[in-house]
Amino acid sequence: MIQDIAPARFDGTYQPAPPVDDSLVCVFQGQRILCVLSPGGTLTLPRFCELPVAAGDCLHLFSVDRQDYFWCRRSLRLLNCDYRYLSLRRALSLPPQAAAFAAVTAYHLAAWYASNRFCGRCGQPLAYCNDERALECSSCGRRVYPRINPAIIVGVTDGDRLLVTKYAPSHAPTRHYALIAGFCEIGESAEETVRREVYEEVGLKVKNIRYYGSQPWGVDGNLSLGYFADLDGSDAITLEQEELSLAEWVRRDKVPQRGDTLALTSEMMEAFRLGRV
Ligand SMILES: [Zn+2]
Repeated sequence: MIQDIAPARFDGTYQPAPPVDDSLVCVFQGQRILCVLSPGGTLTLPRFCELPVAAGDCLHLFSVDRQDYFWCRRSLRLLNCDYRYLSLRRALSLPPQAAAFAAVTAYHLAAWYASNRFCGRCGQPLAYCNDERALECSSCGRRVYPRINPAIIVGVTDGDRLLVTKYAPSHAPTRHYALIAGFCEIGESAEETVRREVYEEVGLKVKNIRYYGSQPWGVDGNLSLGYFADLDGSDAITLEQEELSLAEWVRRDKVPQRGDTLALTSEMMEAFRLGRV
């Protein structure tokens, strides 16, 4: 999965220090990230010394193998033909995987900072904290911490069959096969979300819900929690057509392959296809 970057090591500790010349800088324009064009098609981010930005424009994000990553709070026009903005989804597919994971994680943090400029309680500006990754209201002192949205992904199984889906075009740009997924609601356990989402999206009941693994997914600010669950009762699908265009049972050896296992959904489908679960 995208976060599996060993032997590289991600360290999310916030360091309130300015960038140095070799610090890598993440500059975003919408959901696109500024990259250095490289002949080998690798994902290379610009270094601080290469960019026309001041240290005060940059905020520390995290490090990977002691290489510090910063967020540039300003968007930059393309500097010259050595740089280009790449969509995050394209960046995710480029090697090295540690850089791709860094890019998507930087986006999650940058999007949180960019959408939390004012206090939700009193409306005054929020300021960066030096002692931890948080924002503090300049007036009422309220602290705001990074937001992570818990979501579930569930592979519904019936013996040697897996339920696969496709999103409706209006709901997601991807036309890949997928699994049932959805956000946890307030007051709900992850297992209750699994039962609710399966029932809402395909009208099925499940039992024997078991945890598979999790994944930070910065593109959407999620922490995805993966489960498998057994069908309980009828296998007749009632499709929720606003969200899904298709849901069908497929035999283990016919489970579609999605090309890579960067996403938790892909890894879970592949694990089932190969009989590992
Ligand atoms: Zn306030």
